[in-house]
Amino acid sequence: EKLYGVSRWGGGYFEIGENGNVQVTPVPADKSIRIDFKALIDEIREEGVQFPVVVRFHDVLRSQVASLNTSFRDTIAEAGYQGEYQGVYPIKVNQMREVVEEIVDAGEPFNYGLEAGSKAELVTALALNINENSLTILNGYKDDEFMRLALLGRKLGRKMVVVVEKYTELLLLVKIAKELNIDPIVGVRAKMTVKGRGKWEGSGGEKAKFGLTIAETIKTARYLQENGMGHCLKLLHFHIGSQLTDIRAVKEAISEGGRIYADLYKMGFELDYVDVGGGLGIDYDGSASTNDSSRNYNMQEYVADVVYGMKEVCDLEGVPHPTLVSESGRAITAHHSCVVTEIVGEIRSNSAEIDTAAASQEHVFVKNIRELEDDFEQQTNMQEVFNDASQYKEQALDAFKLRVLSLEELAKIETIYWRIMVRLKQWCATQDYVPEELQELDHSLASQYLCNFSVFQSAADTWAIDQLLPVVPLTRMNEKPEVNCTLVDITCDSDGKIDQFAVGREITDVLPMHKLNAGEHYHVGLFLTGAYQDVMGDMHNLFGRLNEVHIYSHDDDPQDFYIEEVVKGSSVQDVLNIMQYNPRAMAYDVKKLIDKQISAGNIMPREGVRWTDFYEDCLSGYTYLKTS
Ligand code: PLP
Repeated sequence: EKLYGVSRWGGGYFEIGENGNVQVTPVPADKSIRIDFKALIDEIREEGVQFPVVVRFHDVLRSQVASLNTSFRDTIAEAGYQGEYQGVYPIKVNQMREVVEEIVDAGEPFNYGLEAGSKAELVTALALNINENSLTILNGYKDDEFMRLALLGRKLGRKMVVVVEKYTELLLLVKIAKELNIDPIVGVRAKMTVKGRGKWEGSGGEKAKFGLTIAETIKTARYLQENGMGHCLKLLHFHIGSQLTDIRAVKEAISEGGRIYADLYKMGFELDYVDVGGGLGIDYDGSASTNDSSRNYNMQEYVADVVYGMKEVCDLEGVPHPTLVSESGRAITAHHSCVVTEIVGEIRSNSAEIDTAAASQEHVFVKNIRELEDDFEQQTNMQEVFNDASQYKEQALDAFKLRVLSLEELAKIETIYWRIMVRLKQWCATQDYVPEELQELDHSLASQYLCNFSVFQSAADTWAIDQLLPVVPLTRMNEKPEVNCTLVDITCDSDGKIDQFAVGREITDVLPMHKLNAGEHYHVGLFLTGAYQDVMGDMHNLFGRLNEVHIYSHDDDPQDFYIEEVVKGSSVQDVLNIMQYNPRAMAYDVKKLIDKQISAGNIMPREGVRWTDFYEDCLSGYTYLKTS
């Protein structure tokens, strides 16, 4: 637990059980419900679902929706805040139908709504968000059709709020609203001077891509008024970035946003809602700090700062407390899904050794490095040993290129070099102070565990923006992990790796894992992938979407769970179709080639049929490695 910090990033949902397996508590309030990951993996196997698999814990999703809403409700009551909370879930964070449907269903008692940022998301929200009391917030850039869809929502009696991101959108909205004679509900997104901290800080500040300046905001309000629609302006929106690492940014945004709301109100625009956007962060590395992958507050503190902050500004300004809206996506979805995959091999620089016994007439470089190894115990300056060994290896490579050293001699030098490095690493472990270069031995001697998945499909942000995601073995946690390793995926791309981990209280480039036992399935989990990662992946190397299992806990038996649904991942023909190939025609072409070989007598007819069937099976099969 100290090493992997499961309960620190687990948000009350994950911890290590006494049997060494990761356990899931899908409803933190009810600790009696526990799902053992080993049992889950066995069940997935029994169902015949191939790994890698996305596991969705629907109870976790429901729990997060309830937590956020009750947290706002309780804090509002405690603070004596006069307004309500009416949150919305931003579809873009995880657009999967099952995810959005579950959130809408769990949010029903709280009038929890949806946020859409594109036409496709708006079309989705129109069909799914059928609760007339909940909001549908429409952000993003909009065209004529977008506006008409929003107004269709109004006709259907729904609270569709068109948030104006740029001034020209307003002109379009007013024109279409007049033409259709439908009153829109209008929001304005303010460009904030306060910036978030962290990877997404560009969403705030004057150079932000979205939002209106203060002058544009006032112009918008007045334009609506001039067109007899002043009463339609109902919401002020701001969003200063996702994954806000420092709570101070939240406080500053609330006081700046609160002031804008108050002054608009005093100018005669009686807004009902203030929408504080997203940004509620997740503690990916378990450090509860302002690290990029963490945050120095929790959900409760965030909610308190929003509620009390807004109350303070409104009371000072003497304006009513508005209904509070937030657009938390990451906090709602991150914990609910994880990727479970298997380690399918190990790559080590020093994995192969050859016989290094002295041979007659061998090159002096081989002799030198052998002597260095033989005298290891007598050496007092280990930095010098490292320097000499490294120099011999480099010289040997040059000599090989100049055809002075044979391939066999080069292999001997490499073998001895790595043996010396292993001994140096053992020496380092006994020292209080280790020279800088020797510290890197941990990394250079680390194994690479080959994982059956694609970083580009399942953990895009680890590659794109160095986002840290927790990775842990799912079993054997009661055994000491003895192998330091990085994780590499099965794409043909050297960027397809994970080499940033939270280990103990530090961020390291290697992760301690267990030795692989022959014949054992060693599964690892990549956690907190429910926000963005689940849906942002690409098909690099034609690795497609993963098989998914949807898990619910059993009401009757706390130790039990059931796979409610299996959603098949992409087959090879699915991904080929997307890329404009015609798999049927391809199968036909390959069959013709096989037939030709049959006619030429190179393949027997029966064997030809087997090859044809095999090719077709591969087309309809999974894109990932098949493990036995
Ligand atoms: N609202 C808007 C306008 C956003 O751009 C985003 C994401 O950046 C969100 C909400 C969701 O933010 P988060 O996932 O941090 O809650």
